Amino acid sequence: MKTKKLFAIFGNPVSHSRSPLMHNHVFKRLGVNACYTRIHLEEGKDFKTRFFSQKLSGANITVPHKEAAFHACDEVRGFAQKVGVVNTVINEDGRLIGYNTDADGFLFAIEAFSHIKNVLIIGAGGTAKALSMRLLEEGLDVSVLNRSQPNLKYFSELGLQTYTWENCPVKAYDLIVNTTSAGLSDEAYPAPIALLSDLLKSSSFAADAIYGKLTPFLKRCKELDIVYKDGADMLLGQGVLANNYFTNEEFSLQEIEKAMKESFAF
Ligand code: NDP
Repeated sequence: MKTKKLFAIFGNPVSHSRSPLMHNHVFKRLGVNACYTRIHLEEGKDFKTRFFSQKLSGANITVPHKEAAFHACDEVRGFAQKVGVVNTVINEDGRLIGYNTDADGFLFAIEAFSHIKNVLIIGAGGTAKALSMRLLEEGLDVSVLNRSQPNLKYFSELGLQTYTWENCPVKAYDLIVNTTSAGLSDEAYPAPIALLSDLLKSSSFAADAIYGKLTPFLKRCKELDIVYKDGADMLLGQGVLANNYFTNEEFSLQEIEKAMKESFAF
């Protein structure tokens, strides 16, 4: 009998994560002998040791360890190489192989928003990097707003307009995306409320990477009657692609998506 494969999500915080539910449901539906759990990780530098000590076959990595995961990998493939951010890893014969499925997951999520040409990304962490790079590849005009300067360097070196709260002009964006963790386990706005409100009033669509709750950012969107979505579709999109790596491309993306979607009803 084949041994059961074990997968996990690493993060801090990680108790909110729906990934175990999603992946376990797919494994069950598709008859895969595997199980997916969550691991609270304080220090990103400990990721690789924990991964191998738990005898994992693969993992997802969430806030704030995606860049540490990139550095822990023996090899990074595809889009993740470009951004230096890894959210999915596979144990390939004892070597850690890294991928990024967040960016394509996000594109899947915003398919419903039409005529997007310019985007303001709030936040300058791993998710912001992946999304901005992918949106640039799609030919969109991307600007980045962050509470502090240091993490903006990456984006200004890419040639993007970057702003802090102190110098951000109010202009019209087709889409504003919150990629900060503000609102994840607190009631914080990702930018000062006055600035945020002025930006939102001039924009058409808004999206939050956070899922499963109406964040203060989304509450403000709702109050201002802006079309918005939370991070659930992004979660689904990145999860389907990650599961495809976990199951070694044995199933079609459609089969995985169908099974994973069912878990959103729980
Ligand atoms: P990182 O830790 O890499 O980056 C966090 C960013 O948020 C930084 O730019 C930081 O600013 C900013 N930030 C943190 N707290 C605040 C605050 N209170 N006010 C304003 N800015 C703040 O995180 P990730 O990019 O990995 O993840 C960000 C969020 O996206 C998380 O909530 C995560 O759960 C969510 N996510 C959801 C996904 C989905 O599938 N739906 C997929 C990926 C991520 P500074 O630079 O100043 O420190």
